[in-house]
Amino acid sequence: MLPNFPAKLNLANLPTEFLPLDRVSELLGGPRIWLKCDDQTGSLVSGNKIRKLEYLMAEAQSKNCDTVITCGGMQSNHCRATAAVAARLGMGCHLILRGSKEMKPSDNPLSIENCTDDQYQGNLLLDDLCGAEVSIYSPVHYFAHLEQLFSRHENVYEDAGKYCYSIPTGGSNAIGLWGYIEAARELIDDFANASISPTAIVCATGSAGTQGGLGVGFQLLENPIDVIGMAVCDSIAYFDRKIREDVDAWQKRYLPENTQLASDMSIHTIDSYIGPGYAIGYEALFKCIRWLAKNEGVVLDPVYTGKAFYGLTEEIKRGKFDGHTDVVFVHTGGTYGVFPFGSELKCYA
Ligand SMILES: *Cc1c(COP(=O)(O)O)cnc(C)c1O
Repeated sequence: MLPNFPAKLNLANLPTEFLPLDRVSELLGGPRIWLKCDDQTGSLVSGNKIRKLEYLMAEAQSKNCDTVITCGGMQSNHCRATAAVAARLGMGCHLILRGSKEMKPSDNPLSIENCTDDQYQGNLLLDDLCGAEVSIYSPVHYFAHLEQLFSRHENVYEDAGKYCYSIPTGGSNAIGLWGYIEAARELIDDFANASISPTAIVCATGSAGTQGGLGVGFQLLENPIDVIGMAVCDSIAYFDRKIREDVDAWQKRYLPENTQLASDMSIHTIDSYIGPGYAIGYEALFKCIRWLAKNEGVVLDPVYTGKAFYGLTEEIKRGKFDGHTDVVFVHTGGTYGVFPFGSELKCYA
């Protein structure tokens, strides 16, 4: 049983479509693959982050905040969704972004004016159109001082009489978790409508709120489906810790005392398809993206969904899903992140 859901804003187009990918399932010769189309939660405000933002922004509004601050990579889908939601709600938005490796570590952030035309595209371009303020730091500086960067920017706004609401990386925390707890409930309806009982569900994992929320949701709803996170960065051990931390904070806030959910939950992460690193592609990945788009008209991005789906196809070929009849893949969005990879995708035409 789920506890009562907290207040949320209705920002996403829900429920999203749920459909079988029959052609590629047959080509792979494994289980039937079903797609949960969370790339279609909206247009600018699309992808998985909007499910989390429905709860996060409701909390921001209940605290009378007028400015939202969050962080991510330069092509962050989460930052773009946050910038669009803030504009839609009439709030200010400041994005703390991680620049390219070539940037020298310095306190002094770059702004949009300093971006090259190559950088000013995809999600970053949309952030700017939606009126977000952007501060780009070198990766070294960003990782070493992220907490201080948040407090520094909060102080600037609060000195100007604003009220800030800060959202951590990917919107993954105790409140953000609700987004995919609710999605688990929605998926159980999808399964009933399609008359199936899938035994595994696969999603890309970056900040782990999607994997963690689905894990909590299905466990509390007593559906034994195996929630598999395909890591796009970090390691199995990292995500084990991160998910337990978020779930622990969630259960302390929303469940009766002494609940054991966080320690008892089984967490299943695969980290074999990251390739050379976060947001770095590889040949088999680009080929897989082209193959799926051509056969099903479904476009995945090279940073998240492409790696997760490529991982699923490889695991099917290796027999990991032998004996499974139906498995679900969550399309978590990222479409705008395809365009910065144009020249690499073109190489494999
Ligand atoms: C952020 C993101 C993910 C990862 O979700 P987390 O909840 O952060 O693990 C997957 N796909 C896309 C397109 C994303 O933007």
